[in-house]
Amino acid sequence: FRRRIKPWEFEIFFDPRQLRKETCLLYEIKWGTSHKVWRNSGQNTTKHVEVNFIEKFTSERKLCPSISCSITWFLSWSPCWECSKAIREFLRQHPNVTLVIYVARLFHHMDQRNRQGLKDLILSGITVQIMRVSEYHHCWRNFVSYSPGEETYWPRYPPLWMMMYALELHCIILSLPPCLKISRRCQHQLTLFSLTPQKCHYQMIPPYILLATGLIEPPMTWR
Ligand SMILES: [Zn+2]
Repeated sequence: FRRRIKPWEFEIFFDPRQLRKETCLLYEIKWGTSHKVWRNSGQNTTKHVEVNFIEKFTSERKLCPSISCSITWFLSWSPCWECSKAIREFLRQHPNVTLVIYVARLFHHMDQRNRQGLKDLILSGITVQIMRVSEYHHCWRNFVSYSPGEETYWPRYPPLWMMMYALELHCIILSLPPCLKISRRCQHQLTLFSLTPQKCHYQMIPPYILLATGLIEPPMTWR
């Protein structure tokens, strides 16, 4: 666990187009009404990074149940179903803690157990969202050891990938079949992203996401 990560680490860990194996966690902790924010980062070891966080957090502190604590995670991969379970158990034992999770990508999102795990997290009151441009900028400024003068630089990934993952997260929340398909062409090292919408997706997914992913055309305006 260390305070800031290198610019290249941030760029490859949080690139929504890459399927990097390791997971990176950037996190913020705030206590009570204090404005002080504690920041740190972690990666998976023999255990997943979420479990490492929970173990570190609970072993280092005597948690006072009367002081509220808000935690924000920026995760390169969404939690797997086992970590989702561990997170819910951690929050059940610490009702004074609230958790907001931003993720760059959805981890093995075709696996029904992972889908259910994420849905259970959200149903239990945890906010789970796909990282948007504002989160990338925030992480860059607060977690990356950028060079002087590079404060306003941060990796500009194509917004389409964020929207495709946002669409898929909606599918998970609404218990719809997967819409986003990710396949790998090993011989060319290529990762292919495609959308396979069904009628239910057009009916249930918010129009702004359908528009941003190109599944529907903007309405014609007549003048
Ligand atoms: Zn996990």
